[in-house]
Amino acid sequence: MKTSFDVIVIGAGVIGASIAAALVESGLDVALMEKGIGGGQGATRDTGGIVRALELDPALRPLTCRGAHHGRTGIVHALFEQTLKRTGVAYIASSEVCGRYLDAVGSEGTQNVELHASVSALDNGRFTAFCKEECLLIERNGGTVDARACVSNLCRYVSEKATFLDHLAVDRCVEREGYVEVHAGKLCLEATWVVDACGADGPLPRPYGAVHARTIPFTRMSCDDAPSMPIIAHHLNTYLLPLGRNLMQVGGQRRHRADHASDLNLSVMDNEHDVVERVARLGFDAQRSLAVVTQVAWDAYTDDGRPLIGRSNASSHIYLATGFCGIGFKMAPSVAELLAFELGGLMTGVQMDGDHRSIMKAFNPSRFTEVALS
Ligand SMILES: Cc1cc2nc3c(=O)[nH]c(=O)nc-3n(C[C@H](O)[C@H](O)[C@H](O)COP(=O)(O)OP(=O)(O)OC[C@H]3O[C@@H](n4cnc5c(N)ncnc54)[C@H](O)[C@@H]3O)c2cc1C
Repeated sequence: MKTSFDVIVIGAGVIGASIAAALVESGLDVALMEKGIGGGQGATRDTGGIVRALELDPALRPLTCRGAHHGRTGIVHALFEQTLKRTGVAYIASSEVCGRYLDAVGSEGTQNVELHASVSALDNGRFTAFCKEECLLIERNGGTVDARACVSNLCRYVSEKATFLDHLAVDRCVEREGYVEVHAGKLCLEATWVVDACGADGPLPRPYGAVHARTIPFTRMSCDDAPSMPIIAHHLNTYLLPLGRNLMQVGGQRRHRADHASDLNLSVMDNEHDVVERVARLGFDAQRSLAVVTQVAWDAYTDDGRPLIGRSNASSHIYLATGFCGIGFKMAPSVAELLAFELGGLMTGVQMDGDHRSIMKAFNPSRFTEVALS
């Protein structure tokens, strides 16, 4: 068996699978390793798959524009597009929050965004009586990706063109001079670069206190008429995701935080009552909107809400791509493109351009090391 690669990506959630596919497409020799099945374990298993570009933190915008910032459309972008239902995404929010969204978008994105002074433009005005104080933004290009199909297609692409090892947990990595050993049971592989895409899990050390695990509960509810598009209901601090005509998924609030995914309390924590109350405030009849099932999923979080993308320290050959704070699905194509550009450059000695460096600066893991040292 082949044991030596340019890059080994550990973790085949949406982030690792996207990075591996983009690296393969850029001509690198890649292995993708996953302890279970692709997209079947971590945050990606339960993702809503909502893709949208609007983001309040301007630093995140290059990651949410889905692969647009290098002017290229690669395999990852294409595979996302194949399973995307472009319904549009609605934001119900105060005029102040809508204003902040528009500021973050800047002039470049406004063609795709409609601002309405009331929510009457959404679903024949059914929310108007319940959201009198709120405004409405509709992002027309947004929608929902079928996450299972998308990640499985990414993994299939990697397995056909390179190496995909699933059902194989990595135990540890050892940094040697200019390369990294990756140990998984009796197997020892090596690569010039390793990418840690293990989400809130995984065996590799990360900067102290930089990433933690946090629960993301959700409830699936039967209802008379699900909304026509995903709704980010800012004023209620939740989202509604249509899963069919009479089924929707609603985000819950009861959160639990731990250092590692395996330490999380995954009990349901009275989420259903909370969710039923929230959807009633949007006009869904409490008698006819029944909670079908509640799940407690999780993701990797950082205290500043920005992911960690970059070398784990200045001399390391291990890259981190984690801490996607509950919104990593929509960022995956751009993250993959950025890392393919960077690792491709490192392998061939090409210097990063100024644009690339300035985008990546906000995500550099060293921001946490520096805080710890100061
Ligand atoms: C309920 C819910 C709804 C969400 N909705 C949205 C949404 O609508 N839009 C959006 O943009 N984002 C959404 N998110 C967030 C998004 O899903 C995550 O940010 C994203 O899936 C993170 O992907 P990841 O690949 O970093 O991590 P993960 O999906 O957690 O993948 C990590 C992978 O690493 C593997 N791994 C761990 N340890 C090892 C090891 N030792 N060896 C090998 N493999 C290992 C795991 O098995 C796993 O497959 C949602 C999240 C949740 C939970």
